[in-house]
Amino acid sequence: MNKESGKIKMTTPIVEMSGDEMAQILWAYTKEKLVLPFVELKEELFDLGVRNRDQTDDQVTIDAAIATKKYGVAVKCATITPNLERVQEYNLKKMWKSPNGTIRAFLDGTVFRAPILIRGIEPYIRSWKKPITLARHAYGDLYRGAELRIDRPGKCELVFTDADGKETRELIHSFKSNGVVRGQHNLDDSIRNFARCCMSYALDVRQDLIFSAKDTISKTYDREFREIFKEVYTTEYMERFSSLGLRFEYCLIDDAVSRAVKNEGGYVWACQNYDGDVMSDMLATAYGSAAMMTSVLVTPDGKYEYEAAHGTVRRHYYRYLEGDVVSTNPLAIIFAWGNGLEKRGVLDKNAELAEFGRKMKSAATKTVESGIMTADLGRVTSIPNPQIVTGLRFIDIVGIAMQQK
Ligand code: NAP
Ligand code: MG
Repeated sequence: MNKESGKIKMTTPIVEMSGDEMAQILWAYTKEKLVLPFVELKEELFDLGVRNRDQTDDQVTIDAAIATKKYGVAVKCATITPNLERVQEYNLKKMWKSPNGTIRAFLDGTVFRAPILIRGIEPYIRSWKKPITLARHAYGDLYRGAELRIDRPGKCELVFTDADGKETRELIHSFKSNGVVRGQHNLDDSIRNFARCCMSYALDVRQDLIFSAKDTISKTYDREFREIFKEVYTTEYMERFSSLGLRFEYCLIDDAVSRAVKNEGGYVWACQNYDGDVMSDMLATAYGSAAMMTSVLVTPDGKYEYEAAHGTVRRHYYRYLEGDVVSTNPLAIIFAWGNGLEKRGVLDKNAELAEFGRKMKSAATKTVESGIMTADLGRVTSIPNPQIVTGLRFIDIVGIAMQQK
């Protein structure tokens, strides 16, 4: 603590990536009202707003990723991934790639998504008491597939030609009528890194880990995933898991799904790329509101980038610009800042800062529990007569609660 200012000191900078639209409005306001009054913020700031990415030919995204690798902890606001419509809207030079994709590829990380659970915001699944954190493998499979439409009879094969020109073949199907075919791949190194990220993360949050796939049907492809997870676990992680009383288990995807809706949560669920895509949307919706999902990118060498899982909330932004009252939920944004500062504190052995990050999150949670919330939560809460406020007002109220402590 700095005696003069009464603010918490930092030793290592945190990396901040600012973003776009409504998310950016709430992002900047969270920093102004909930961080700066309490912390002597040491940071490296990168403006990942789409206009600045355009101006810098996306160099700013690479710079932000490099800084994250250097300092180890980043917080990121939601950013626009341009499509054709966005290119016209913002008059962009080109359709820049997704910043999240660029950063993830640079850091070779895994994204973990966990819902914020609050008393009074009941999940649709009654048995859930603790969050299920979903880890999605972010390389290959369906997303890098090669596809063909078959429009005449013929034989379709998988052909692998090695460096010496030797071919290995496997019949996919002898087509007698029209159809479709797909080839997909993955890499042992990517799967291994994914396994390491999941195991490190589970140790970090002290939760059990399950990895699910369909190796009963996919006896080579999915079997490979299962074997690599097992090998990484037994050779690198088993001792640390047992010393904390934690478990790693392989689980058939069907069982993992039925387990997820039957038990009380509180574990990390690692999924293949497609399963993770679908299951993370299912979990987010089932927990009550998509705006209550947090997200963190973790690298195999222990770097962290925190953000809200939702996007820039464009619809609300345009209404906001027209002077409409919009009630956009800032909880996941507050949690991104809180989680980032907490992790910075833990890594720097700065107990005050770590405690501050936790307090920020609990002040936000308690505000909702006291009945003050944004409109999206108002629609699903079991708290009688909730007071619906705008996102900015919600942040103000959390700030007042933090001043009083
Ligand atoms: P979105 O920003 O997540 O919003 C979709 C809808 O979900 C909103 O219109 C709103 O529904 C609801 N919603 C999302 N967040 C909310 C919040 N905090 N509070 C209240 N309601 C919330 O998704 P999008 O509109 O599809 O995407 C907008 C832009 O975000 C796109 O350009 C996309 O590229 C970008 N995006 C960025 C990230 C990222 O940086 N991580 C992730 C996803 C999308 P109602 O309108 O019904 O109230
Ligand atoms: Mg999806």
